[in-house]
Amino acid sequence: MPGTLSFDDLKTRVQDGSVDTVLACFVDMQGRLMGKRFHAVNFLEHSFEETHCCNYLLATDLEMGTPDGYASTSWQAGYGDYVMKPDLGTIRPVPWLEGTAMVLCDILDHHSHLPVPHSPRAMLQRQVARLSDMGFDAMMATELEFFLFEQSFDDIRRGGFRDLKPISGYNEDYHILQTTREEHVMRPIRNHLYAAGLPIENTKGEAETGQEELNIRYAPALDCADHHTIAKHAIKEIANANGHAASFLPKWHHDKVGSSSHVHQSLWQDGQPMFYDASDDLGMSQLMKHYMAGLIAHAPEYTFFLAPYVNSYKRFAKGTFAPTKTVWSVDNRTAGFRLCGDGTKGVRVECRVGGSDLNPYLAQAAMLAAGIKGIEDEMELTPPTSGDVYEDAKAADIPQNLRTATETLRGSQMLREAFGDDVMDHYTRCAEVEQEEFDRVVTDWEIARGFERA
Ligand code: ADP
Repeated sequence: MPGTLSFDDLKTRVQDGSVDTVLACFVDMQGRLMGKRFHAVNFLEHSFEETHCCNYLLATDLEMGTPDGYASTSWQAGYGDYVMKPDLGTIRPVPWLEGTAMVLCDILDHHSHLPVPHSPRAMLQRQVARLSDMGFDAMMATELEFFLFEQSFDDIRRGGFRDLKPISGYNEDYHILQTTREEHVMRPIRNHLYAAGLPIENTKGEAETGQEELNIRYAPALDCADHHTIAKHAIKEIANANGHAASFLPKWHHDKVGSSSHVHQSLWQDGQPMFYDASDDLGMSQLMKHYMAGLIAHAPEYTFFLAPYVNSYKRFAKGTFAPTKTVWSVDNRTAGFRLCGDGTKGVRVECRVGGSDLNPYLAQAAMLAAGIKGIEDEMELTPPTSGDVYEDAKAADIPQNLRTATETLRGSQMLREAFGDDVMDHYTRCAEVEQEEFDRVVTDWEIARGFERA
């Protein structure tokens, strides 16, 4: 479901005084909402056409640093502007904030007014357009897992990120009793997001102390990524308003299960599910088999887009429901790719590799590119694996760390063809920056291990 307010609806709300603020937001490389808070009158009179932002915003890191090595922007080039072009089809209320509406913006080049190719939303739009030229629509759903903590973000930061207290005292997977105790946070999350036009399915407790999951109904790929981004943002704001922290760090403690973002995928044509073939044992069409073959074969190349930080790779651990192998299985949660809804029109593939820190635009764009390649090359799908895939020595591994994933990313001909060399060089640099920063810093672990005994 796209935005729920037309431009005229917004005008009416501004006139009757129910909206006074418009958030104009775009999505950065880390999948965050960035932008400006407009007085609604200014937005309606001027800024709905375009506004501007510094072009370092698509070349920064989580700390808002200005790392070198990006061809698109630099100190030498003077860090100029991008155009933020509001997509007026995405206007929606922000019910958890008083008098506020939101619009998502596309990022355009300041001079040519063409889409900036490494902008995450543009990258997904481009792959969706390729599929559309082939006659297909991609339907996607991303699951959002995260941890809720007793303390607030500010308390945790002031305490040096130590003594983190998850909101529950025990594994709350599917628990109704414990999740009732969290309804002061989770109920407003469901209801506010629903009122903002996101087709919320449910929330549930997940398989660790303090771990939660939000499910949103599947939607066309771009809407799905918009929903994910808005939902993640809202979860943090609503938790914060209630005095709690919500974290999407994939692995906040080595002894705890990590947080994922599984991505469900299917292709449709004129409203019909093209992954379904009633005559196949598992109900999988040839199209689905080619798509999945591409998805699986190219997984090591796009793993960076599913696991973009050093911490992301700590999640890939045996026996935690997070996968370690790039194989597929039928309704088996130990494989990287799970066939869901087999034998039904809802047949789809769930990629289980991604962590809760993925940028959904980049993740979906990369997976669509891999699936398209599988279709174009009529790649053959290997038979499914079964049993405990963690112990399958023959199955190929997911890259085990960011350094390996950076090299598979750099060398991916498939992604270079789909995204272009400039975009690939941009994101390879992004991956390098993250690793360089980590390599530079002395960690608590090293000090505790070696301070006395080394
Ligand atoms: P689980 O039991 O694993 O939670 P669900 O039935 O709740 O599975 O579905 C998980 C996600 O898959 C939901 O977000 C749902 O909207 C999505 N989904 C269902 N059908 C499709 C489909 N055909 N294509 C893509 N996603 C789908």
